[in-house]
Amino acid sequence: TKYIVVSGGVVSGIGKGVIASSTGLLLKTTGLKVTAIKIDPYMNIDAGTMRPQEHGEVYVLNDGGEVDLDLGNYERYLNVTLSRDNNITTGKIYREVIEKERRGDYLGKTVQIVPHVTNAIQDWIERVSKIPVDDTGEEPDVCIVELGGTVGDIESAPFVEAMRQFQFRVGYENFALIHVSLVPDMHGEQKTKPTQTTVHALRGLGLLPDLIACRLIIQKSLEPATKAKISMFCHVAAEQVLGIHDVSSVYHVPLLLQSQGIIQFLQKRLNLNSIHLTKEMT
Ligand code: ADP
Repeated sequence: TKYIVVSGGVVSGIGKGVIASSTGLLLKTTGLKVTAIKIDPYMNIDAGTMRPQEHGEVYVLNDGGEVDLDLGNYERYLNVTLSRDNNITTGKIYREVIEKERRGDYLGKTVQIVPHVTNAIQDWIERVSKIPVDDTGEEPDVCIVELGGTVGDIESAPFVEAMRQFQFRVGYENFALIHVSLVPDMHGEQKTKPTQTTVHALRGLGLLPDLIACRLIIQKSLEPATKAKISMFCHVAAEQVLGIHDVSSVYHVPLLLQSQGIIQFLQKRLNLNSIHLTKEMT
């Protein structure tokens, strides 16, 4: 399985979920089977007990799982049926680790965030990424992992660390990271500093962005000069910087990403053609 992690910086609610599901949709159009996991770094076991005024409506899955609205995006964009395990929360991970501790599974060891919680997160992602999500019953080729919250939060730290370890568990060719950042427009001037700061924080935690998705909360596209500056200061090639401006419908976001070469980039970065070759041979 190939993993594409989507993280976010600067502020929440910038359209990380839409970018993650759009990326999944584009890969699906190339003939790959795509599944998705949403990580919500809160202590609630699920969204069922959360006030909708604060958190948006609860989305209910086929198995009765009460989850974040983003899971609805994934089901619609990817035309798949997800289960409650496709939504990971801090509460679910802690519950699992504590139950194991009570059963004595850790054989007297001191149970810690690293490695026990971070291992539980990685095991969960690996297990759920292989569960078929459509009626063919085949294992997915690609798993999109959306990390809720923003990088640098205390809440998301165990998940960020788990992802840092995960790149080595699955290998370079099977792990790519898209970091979504905010590019504020101040009276016509596109500012790159928040992006520089968040990418710096990300690198400090051991994660290197393969793509930096720059969200502009305005109907104006990312200027070539802004792109060049982000490329220069964030140590990535210009082709690794994508602009996502406000569009009239979120269903235009896949086209916006496609026009900037995201499919070709991911095909090369994750060697996706090898999946097609393996399929043809079997
Ligand atoms: P996050 O996952 O970062 O919290 P979402 O993907 O849920 O953010 O998006 C937050 C809101 O912004 C949603 O209501 C979505 O419809 C809207 N949105 C996201 N991307 C765009 C875009 N490119 N143009 C216009 N609205 C967008």
